[in-house]
Amino acid sequence: MAQPQYKRVLLKLSGEVLMGSQPFGIDPEFVAEMAAEVKAAKESGLEICLVIGGGNIFRGMAGAAKGMDRAQADYMGMLATVMNALAMQNALEQLGVPTRVQSAIEMDKVCEPVIRRRAERHLEKGRVVIFAAGVGAPYFTTDSGAALRAAEMRCDALLKGTSVDGVYNADPKQDPAAKRYDTIDYDTVLADNLKVMDASAVALCRDNKIPIVVFSIRERGNLARVLAGQGVQTIVQ
Ligand code: UDP
Repeated sequence: MAQPQYKRVLLKLSGEVLMGSQPFGIDPEFVAEMAAEVKAAKESGLEICLVIGGGNIFRGMAGAAKGMDRAQADYMGMLATVMNALAMQNALEQLGVPTRVQSAIEMDKVCEPVIRRRAERHLEKGRVVIFAAGVGAPYFTTDSGAALRAAEMRCDALLKGTSVDGVYNADPKQDPAAKRYDTIDYDTVLADNLKVMDASAVALCRDNKIPIVVFSIRERGNLARVLAGQGVQTIVQ
């Protein structure tokens, strides 16, 4: 395996990847598989920040669609991301990977608050830092949280692990002729409204020159291949 091309990355996983084959919630077996991917990436010498969404448990928009107050529902979504972060912390530590969870909503019985300098120190000591609760404010998503943490932690790239292997000009599940981009620029993603991350996250990455690497996390070993520049991916730059 070639050496990774990055020194420090932020890996964003949507909550859905923790569900495995379940319709909802957390599948510990699947979380363990994800943790093994992260462990392998870390052992290649990388510093890793993690952000996990909450969509496997609760999304604010879904609550609002059923009549809830949007901000209230979003706070519930943020709490869901903390549960996922704790599940991932548990799985990583069972594999012997030291971690810290830092939450944008303070919860001092279960994790640390977000403190950038402390997070730096954790990375220097070889810990994986899991950032929870997004940006800590409603009307945002964990994509924006990921872009924000990638910028403040000066990550070399934001890796977006999803269920598709990159960015296409049409939905590959609907259109067999859809073409995957190897690279694409931020402004095209925004202008064409391509579903990579939400617009505020893409704009934050653009303004801070953080490449977004979109790849499939569903294939085993893919994270390590992508990090070594040998995987199937789209780089938004
Ligand atoms: N959320 C929020 N502010 C944030 C991050 C998340 O309000 O900064 C809420 C929002 O309701 C969102 C939910 O948390 O729907 C779960 O996050 P997200 O939808 O980004 O999870 P993913 O789709 O990545 O699983």
